[in-house]
Amino acid sequence: MSNKSALVRVDFNVPMDNGASAGSDGYLPASAITDDGRIRAALPTIKKLSDDGFRVVLVAHLGRPKGESSSSLSLKPIADRLSELLGESIAFIPLTQIKASNGSLFSALGNARVGLVENIRFDSRETSKSDEERLDLAKELVRDADMFILDGFGVVHRKQASVTEIASLVPAKAGLLVAKEMSAFDQVLNSPAHPYVVVLGGAKVSDKIQVIRNLLDSADTLLIGGAMAFTFLAAQGLEVGKSLVEHDHLETAKELLALAEQKRVKVFLPSDVVVATAPGAPDGAHHVAVTQIPPQVMGLDIGPATVEVFADQIRNASTVVWNGPMGVFEVPAFAKGTFGVAQAVADCKGFTVIGGGDTAAAVRAAGLDDDRFSHVSTGGGASLELLEGKTLPGLANLKEHLT
Ligand code: AMP
Repeated sequence: MSNKSALVRVDFNVPMDNGASAGSDGYLPASAITDDGRIRAALPTIKKLSDDGFRVVLVAHLGRPKGESSSSLSLKPIADRLSELLGESIAFIPLTQIKASNGSLFSALGNARVGLVENIRFDSRETSKSDEERLDLAKELVRDADMFILDGFGVVHRKQASVTEIASLVPAKAGLLVAKEMSAFDQVLNSPAHPYVVVLGGAKVSDKIQVIRNLLDSADTLLIGGAMAFTFLAAQGLEVGKSLVEHDHLETAKELLALAEQKRVKVFLPSDVVVATAPGAPDGAHHVAVTQIPPQVMGLDIGPATVEVFADQIRNASTVVWNGPMGVFEVPAFAKGTFGVAQAVADCKGFTVIGGGDTAAAVRAAGLDDDRFSHVSTGGGASLELLEGKTLPGLANLKEHLT
């Protein structure tokens, strides 16, 4: 067996069925995992390293255990699922092995080629505010590793021991998944083909201010939907009824619209919206022009005329970046706008990037496979921070990509 060893940080923070009950061993079964997409996304890197003769130890977290062990947040079901997907037994390594004086994580592999360490956030040093404590854990983790691979895009914006500190201790590379994410974002941030259309939606303007500021330098067109559109409409003096408006950001909205005009970026706001009394009260939902929103209702989706206009801009784009749903897509009566935009992005022949989190969930809910897009990001927070123009701590020390 080879003695080359790679420690790999992955994102296995998968959704689990809260109602599932533990087996006789006290752990949840692998069937409690409701979406194993993140485990599957890590397979190419794991297989590549194994094929190249590396012994592989994976480090990951689940949930926010705040430094305390709990069987409901154990990675045991994930180890079982991974073993099924790889078609080979893998070692499940307890956290006590990190400190064990008789050897490293790799010595716990036994005959297995791949091992998964228990939820690293059970160790409070992982997310500690103290640089020293994080470095201390990173040193213990990396003992006997020849190489560190960062392949969990969902955590690259986190300053945590197994993401950031570890990369300063041994040669560090981006895994295949992180490399693909970096390359897609590099293209839209640094060399987008024009026309370049940016589509933004979601709950709050305040979450997207920095994204708008950053992308106004390169985008040609900005399409704004979701709840955030109502702050822009209100800033233009329209009555938007009970729609969500961030009153403390009305001035920012005005300022961003002025900045867009100055930079000659075309901004499209909704011309019509679907209204109802509340997100949970879809009966009686209907669409109205944005100039006709009755005082007692709220806008919960973009309307059909707006979908047409947005879709037309998107289909003719050479680059599209989309972050944030156009409405409350979780409720069918308010999903048409988001699904219409998703279809247009899927139909676009240009380079198309879907932000992670809600936007990726929305395209899947629209029934569109990931291969209809150039790239569907696996990280919500990380993709947003890249679009804001930030340098992410996990990526700063990666000098190379796994090839
Ligand atoms: P974000 O996390 O910022 O991407 O926001 C996503 C959430 O915004 C989703 O859960 C949507 O249901 C919600 N959302 C989108 N449009 C609206 C709207 N018009 N009113 C209320 N919530 C909305």
